[in-house]
Amino acid sequence: MIKRLIDKVFGRKGGDHPVVIAAPEHGIRREHISHGARRVCEQLQENGYAAYVVGGAVRDLLLGVEPKDFDVATSATPEQVHRVVRRSRLIGRRFKLVHALFGNEVVEVSTFRAGAPDPGDAESAAQMVDEHGRVLRDNVYGTRQEDAARRDFTVNALYYDPVAETVLDYHKGLVDLRKKTVRMIGDPARRYREDPVRMLRAVRFAARPGFHIAPKTAAPIAELAPLLSNVPAARLFEEMLKLLLSGNAAACVLQLRTQGLHHGLLPMLDMILEQPMGERFVTLALEQTDRRILEDKPVSPAFLFAALLWHQVLSAWKQATDRGERPIPALHEAMDRVLDQQTDQLAIPRRFTVTMKEIWGMQPRLDANTGRRPHLLLEHPRFRAAFDFLALRAESGEAPAELVDWWARFQVVGATEREHMLLPATAGTGTRRRRRRRPAGEAGERDTSGGNTNGGRTEPPSGSRHDNDPEAG
Ligand code: ATP
Ligand code: MG
Repeated sequence: MIKRLIDKVFGRKGGDHPVVIAAPEHGIRREHISHGARRVCEQLQENGYAAYVVGGAVRDLLLGVEPKDFDVATSATPEQVHRVVRRSRLIGRRFKLVHALFGNEVVEVSTFRAGAPDPGDAESAAQMVDEHGRVLRDNVYGTRQEDAARRDFTVNALYYDPVAETVLDYHKGLVDLRKKTVRMIGDPARRYREDPVRMLRAVRFAARPGFHIAPKTAAPIAELAPLLSNVPAARLFEEMLKLLLSGNAAACVLQLRTQGLHHGLLPMLDMILEQPMGERFVTLALEQTDRRILEDKPVSPAFLFAALLWHQVLSAWKQATDRGERPIPALHEAMDRVLDQQTDQLAIPRRFTVTMKEIWGMQPRLDANTGRRPHLLLEHPRFRAAFDFLALRAESGEAPAELVDWWARFQVVGATEREHMLLPATAGTGTRRRRRRRPAGEAGERDTSGGNTNGGRTEPPSGSRHDNDPEAG
């Protein structure tokens, strides 16, 4: 109480007056700022408003990392921004923002806003937070200091003025950045209650090489982790996607586990990471994603989520075949079940689940390297993804490497060679299913009882590692 009074009279400690850092010390030059963000700041300043590049872009430039995008914060209201910046549009209903358009670049411009009310101020707090302290409304404009205080981590509360070339630092963010420390502004527990997604953001930033979460910032996470269940599933998905596409996905998932955030949040990870095959598969998928991002190659979220959930699908598939269902219908039932369960926690948009199902559904079909099927599969728009998925399964020991080699070759050789590869007499890869025609009714049925002598066929797991096809030798 007394502390609150003192804070009110003298201002919150450390947050009222920014340290102004000059160019020689921070090293950012205005040329590092995107054309659009620079123009927006210049135009707003010419019209008498304050305007800065904020958030991730400043943090990343100080780290020598190329920013993903540039956000601008200003004292101008959205309507004022819209009047000043010729090509711009107002977006958002609850909290209005402006998108300023410069060629292909879209600069997000937000008006300084005040953070959540002090929980001591019962009346305004009651209107703006739920019973767990989660902020429901944060659409109140504020001063620059207030805007800095409502940001999450000190390293994310730096303001760069591209006209003056100075950095304004309200919360010792530069010191923390140099120490690679992720430190919450204000009382960490309260800030996580306001927005539990901040726990995931802490993990994402701390997974960068050399970074760590300050002990006091990390301390409340394990206890508050269950609050993530109050976050709308779609927002959780967005945040998970950022985490998985951060280029440090493998480290992020490790951090999630260290912080106790994987329980409940991602039921899939709970189970999967606790079994060696699952852990290996997921780790390989994450490492591959990180590598691709590092190399600036595109990554498909659908592929990644398909990988994250694959072992869950495998186990649901096994349950269905154990009940006596035929393999393919059982697989489809398993896919639907896993996706249904997952949607409660973390809503994966339909545009991804459709592709995920295609990738999963093609796995057993990739065994069929005889007849016309391989030709048809090759033409499937999702063939490449399904093939990459097969390769991942092989790398984790779940599918025979020879099958991957067969498909790798089948894709690149000419028509004659393809026919040749499909001829039973040209076996030698050892991965072909030398299945003779069976009497009607038997065809397509698979032996799911035996376990690991399935000649590379994709089947529900038998609990043990796939061996190579014994026929192959
Ligand atoms: P990225 O590199 O992923 O874009 P970022 O820090 O820029 O990282 P954004 O989601 O783009 O992340 O948010 C921009 C800025 O808005 C952050 O740097 C931070 O200052 C503020 N911010 C974003 N999310 C929150 C949050 N949940 N709570 C408080 N501040 C936030
Ligand atoms: Mg950003």
